[in-house]
Amino acid sequence: MIKKDLLLTPGPTTVPAKILLSMAEPLFHHRTPQYQKLFSEVCEGLKFVFRTKHDVLTLTSSGTGAMESAMVNLLSAGDQVIVVDAGKFGERFGDIGKAFGIQCDIIKIPYGKAVDPQVVGDKLKSGNYKAVFTTLCETSTGVVHDIQGLAKVVCNSSAVLICDAISGLGADRLEMDEWGVDVVVSGSQKGLMLPPGLAFIALNDKAWKLTETSELPKFYYNLAQYKKALKKGDTPWTPATTLVVGLNEALKTMHAEGYDEVIDRHARLAESTRAAMTAIGLELFAERPSNAVTSIKVPTGIDGVKLVKVIRDELGITLAGGQGDMKGQIFRFGHLGYCSEYDLVSGVAAVEQVLDRLGYKFKLGDGLTAFQKVIRSRQKLSV
Ligand SMILES: *Cc1c(COP(=O)(O)O)cnc(C)c1O
Repeated sequence: MIKKDLLLTPGPTTVPAKILLSMAEPLFHHRTPQYQKLFSEVCEGLKFVFRTKHDVLTLTSSGTGAMESAMVNLLSAGDQVIVVDAGKFGERFGDIGKAFGIQCDIIKIPYGKAVDPQVVGDKLKSGNYKAVFTTLCETSTGVVHDIQGLAKVVCNSSAVLICDAISGLGADRLEMDEWGVDVVVSGSQKGLMLPPGLAFIALNDKAWKLTETSELPKFYYNLAQYKKALKKGDTPWTPATTLVVGLNEALKTMHAEGYDEVIDRHARLAESTRAAMTAIGLELFAERPSNAVTSIKVPTGIDGVKLVKVIRDELGITLAGGQGDMKGQIFRFGHLGYCSEYDLVSGVAAVEQVLDRLGYKFKLGDGLTAFQKVIRSRQKLSV
């Protein structure tokens, strides 16, 4: 049996062959005009995707490094902050804060639900908060938070809004400057179609101002060093040059497609996946579903861990299961970055095939039919 590997996870995502090949070129040194030219193109491309005129700094780390850098560059020990915890990744901000002696007031949201910006607004009035930490797409539940609404309430306070857009960037709309989001962080292995290893952070003037009073210890992640180096088209430490070469290719592709088109493509993928799953009687998990990931409740009587395992080990298609408390309760389709409708058709077919064999009652093919119908109405073709 031929088993073709297909990643339908919310990171890492498939890297296009063109990008992989660009990273196979022989290495060149990074303190050279050649690298500076490349890096300046990349910095411009990042601004386009982050929807900002501010510098986007490139760090060599996984996404969590950018989350930690936000914390250590903005705050001092004992500072009071608000953390929106609606899943594993919101929770991580709280964990980072605790590790650095930050007083984190957690707004705990039930898994599958989104935060109400007004709740954050009210909380802000009850204390002397320096910052609000949130995710754009909470990857563990598939929820996208109302970042525009959150930015509105945080704008009216002295606090800054930090948004983890590690999985959401380039899938769910996020207008950093227009909406007034103060800090945006992201990573390479999701919507940007690259291997893991790069993280990004952009700060606006309000956030840079706050860095001036921050006293938490930092060295590798001292963003002032990155900003200083950037003036010379450089990074303070050796950059992951290979990944930066790939990043330039990825950003060029996204720029050529157009921001609205990229977001709309993801919206279509998410909509068709939701239609397919509900057509076979499954229930969606997220009340405010992201364009990057679709999470679905495992039906009663079906072993959700087995479902994902058989699809991966026997069919070669990797979906994501539930994390932590949600293990076995939900499964997730990642449909971000280099993912097309016809990749998802395979994913939907695999879910139907294995659910049927596990004894779930539905009409085989109903999911695919619903999927096709959304594509028929939403995708523009020449015929
Ligand atoms: C993937 C992800 C992270 C973690 O990033 P790492 O690259 O594993 O450090 C953080 N937040 C969100 C929302 C994510 O999807």
